[in-house]
Amino acid sequence: MAITSLERMNNSDLAGYYSTLSRNYKKVRSQNLKLDMSRGKPCQEQLDLTAGLIDCLSRTDFRAANGTDCRNYGGIDGIPEIRELCAWILEARPAEVIVGGNSSLALMHDLIVRAMLQKLPGSETPWKKLPQVRFLCPSPGYDRHFAICEYLGIEMIPVNYQADGPDMDKVERLAAADPTIKGIWCVPKYSNPTGITYSDSVVKRLATMTTKASDFRIFWDNAYAVHHLTNTPDRLLNILTACKNAGNPDRVFIFASSSKISFPGSGIAMMAGSETNINWLKKQMIIQTIGPDKMNQLRHVRFFKDPAGIEAHMRRHAAIIKPKFDLVTAIFESTLGGKNLATWSNPRGGYFISLNTLPGCAKKVVAKAAEAGVVLTGAGATFPYGLDPEDKNIRIAPTFPPLPELKQALELVALCIQLVSAEQELA
Ligand code: PLP
Repeated sequence: MAITSLERMNNSDLAGYYSTLSRNYKKVRSQNLKLDMSRGKPCQEQLDLTAGLIDCLSRTDFRAANGTDCRNYGGIDGIPEIRELCAWILEARPAEVIVGGNSSLALMHDLIVRAMLQKLPGSETPWKKLPQVRFLCPSPGYDRHFAICEYLGIEMIPVNYQADGPDMDKVERLAAADPTIKGIWCVPKYSNPTGITYSDSVVKRLATMTTKASDFRIFWDNAYAVHHLTNTPDRLLNILTACKNAGNPDRVFIFASSSKISFPGSGIAMMAGSETNINWLKKQMIIQTIGPDKMNQLRHVRFFKDPAGIEAHMRRHAAIIKPKFDLVTAIFESTLGGKNLATWSNPRGGYFISLNTLPGCAKKVVAKAAEAGVVLTGAGATFPYGLDPEDKNIRIAPTFPPLPELKQALELVALCIQLVSAEQELA
């Protein structure tokens, strides 16, 4: 990073500046704030947008278009009309889609557990029988992906993010050389937390690269596929098609959900892959369940109707949350701009702003904010094992608090960044 505003100060100016910041911090701390910004959750107005989902069915409206009584058991991969709608989100054919459950994270977790216990198409051995299984983990990334790996004893190898996706030179080098590398986590659009969208070149390289493991999989978590904040959405190359074109049709599993379209926890989860992968998975899933909640699927079809319905709905979400993203950027610009004490992303979609402090400051900033009543995502959470090698990344989740609370919280974060940076400069 370039020379900071603090490095330009002489010792007495720095000491004076530090005592002003400390006084301001004590003032804020005495206000006893109680704000939780630790997770990217929709706010109440966003949830209200989908209120009609609760009563859009009547007592007599329970049949899918093919006559299926949605109140009863059956249909492991979802009713046809929800598969068609989800196929649009996932950019796959309905035959390549499974809609099931209420959480895409659960689909990811269960899929990796299955790969541990049973041979995936292309596997020689279930992963649990191998002495070691490793995953590539572009970082900063989604903490819960890393938690699945840690829970299952999968060793995580961090890979840096660049402006258009993971460092592909490193990804290609490692995947080609190491047979224990079985997978890579990707949040390819409006990534959590960096906000970036993978370039065509990165998508193609992932699809075509040589992998030493014959059963290597890309876990393509497209959680923010339709979550645009601008009128000119980012475009992401279709990975399933890229994999097919490269002669690696089974390489990718794609995931998404309606958690941040309808209701988190009461939405619908979906995934896509080659028919080989999907048919394999359906055989596994039928052991676990007789079928998903088809009434909820029907509700989603009735409420959203078609892709245009989802797009219009997402524009309403954006109208609520874009001002929150703008407020964060405005506060950082006005308090930290030109000081070289931090950098922050300006995402065009998704749920997060990625903030980087000076190296060695993130943990202290999060702790100071917590001491004054503002809970942020834990520093380090965005890296495998919670270990941010430079201790500088903080994930800002601006969607949940109302604007006045968000303003208070972010002004405090900006103050803590200046305070901790000054402390470090004085040390
Ligand atoms: N994937 C990513 C990248 C997320 O950011 C989140 C939630 O924050 C999820 C998955 C969770 O999705 P679901 O509610 O479908 O389990």
